[in-house]
Parts: sequence; structure tokens; C-alpha cells
Amino acid sequence: MVRVGIIGGSGLYDPGILKDVEERKVHTPYGSPSDNIMIGKLNGVEIAFLPRHGRGHRIPPHAINYRANIWALHSLGVERIVAVSAVGSLREDYRPGDFVLPDQFIDMTKNRVYTFYDGPRVAHIQIGLEPFCLELRKLVLKAAEELGIVIHDKGTYVCIEGPRFSTKAESIIWKEVFKCDIIGMTLVPEINLARELGMCYSLIAMVTDYDIWAERIVTAEEVVRVMNENVDKAKKLLYKLIPEIPKERKCRCEKILETAFL
Ligand SMILES: [Zn+2]
Repeated sequence: MVRVGIIGGSGLYDPGILKDVEERKVHTPYGSPSDNIMIGKLNGVEIAFLPRHGRGHRIPPHAINYRANIWALHSLGVERIVAVSAVGSLREDYRPGDFVLPDQFIDMTKNRVYTFYDGPRVAHIQIGLEPFCLELRKLVLKAAEELGIVIHDKGTYVCIEGPRFSTKAESIIWKEVFKCDIIGMTLVPEINLARELGMCYSLIAMVTDYDIWAERIVTAEEVVRVMNENVDKAKKLLYKLIPEIPKERKCRCEKILETAFL
């Protein structure tokens, strides 16, 4: 059984650090996941890797089959997900090239499928206090600090529908009214679907640029450069982090389900 799964975001389509890789095509009751799942050893530990947008970035955020992705990982035995995503920054001190470990989120998506429980079984999951696995967050933080990677321990992630970017007026609302710190298009419903199956979820958010509130003109070249540097750092971080994840879970991510069903 594979216990740890990695979901790669923009730029991270192939961890490139996996050994003995085997590709698995997984079918789910919800259709196909974004791509074949790569199973291989990362620094000695067997993991499952799935590129969220598919290899070659074929699937935009609003068209990702989130249920199939999470179901597929779960069906392989994955209990803990380390997700990686490129995000925009809503604050001056979260700079392009920095990493953020969000601890809260606000959902501003509009048209997604948010649950595995469409009835007759009904579930209302608790996700309010600790949406991200506390145990995984600590491990990511420790590994990043040991590698000297700048990582901010806290942040509220606002998830927008996309695929367009925010207007300046919207960006100012996320920043000034909602008090969010980073912005992206893929956290929801990935995070809550994982919780519905009792899986741990943590996100390594890599800041690519400042969102439009800052009115900074960034060239595509700059964005690509920062993204490539981020991806290299993310690979190093994953290489260090994965062997540190204990087999037995001490967090509450699975237990929370005990009170979810009506
Ligand atoms: Zn957990």
C-alpha cells in the first residue's frame, strides 16, 4: 500500500526524483483522474504522484475532476496528501519565490462538485478549525527550515473560480476586506474531498507573483523563471520531507469523520 500521495501543481508535472516508477491508470466511479498516477520511491519511500493539471498542463482549474483525483489516490491506499501549488501573493512580505503553509481558506469558487456525499448518505464534515493537517504542517515547516527555504507559517488562501485572474477591484477585496494572504484556483474542493475520505491534506504554496492589487507589471519570462526556481526548491523539500512522515497518524483528520454523518 502507498500511504503518501503528492499532487503536483503548475510546473510540477513529474517529480523527476522518483525511482522505480510504475504508471497506473486508475478508474473511479467519478471518471478518470487528471493523468496516470506514478508510483515510485522518493528518497526510499513509496509514494503516489499525480499532476493536478495533467502532464503538459492540459486541464484548467475549473475543469479538473477533483473527485476522481482524490478517489484514485485513496483507492491506492493513500492516507496523507502533500499538495503543491503556485499562488499569487496578497501581501508585500510574501514575496515571489517564498513558500507559504496556509492554515485557513476562503472558498470563492462558483461551479464545482464539492462532495462525495450527494445522498442518500449525507455528511457535513468539520473543516473549520484545522482544514490542513496539523501534523503534516509541522513536518513541512521543519523540513523547509532545515533546508533554508523561506516559508511563511500561516496564511489564508482565497480560492477563486478562474480560469481568468481577478480584477483589481476583486484583488483589493480579497486583500483588504477578506484579509487573505494568498490566492489560487485549485485548493477547493481538493481539500474538503480529501477530508471527506479521512485523508490528511497539506499544501505547499509557492508564490509566483504579486496579484493585481500591487499593479506590478510582470513579464511572462519573470513568472517562468520564478516558477522554475520554485519547482526546484519544492523537489528538494519533498525529498527531505517524505521520509520524515511517520507511518502512524497522530492527527485528527480521520477521527473528524466520526461526527460527520447524519
Ligand atoms: Zn492529518
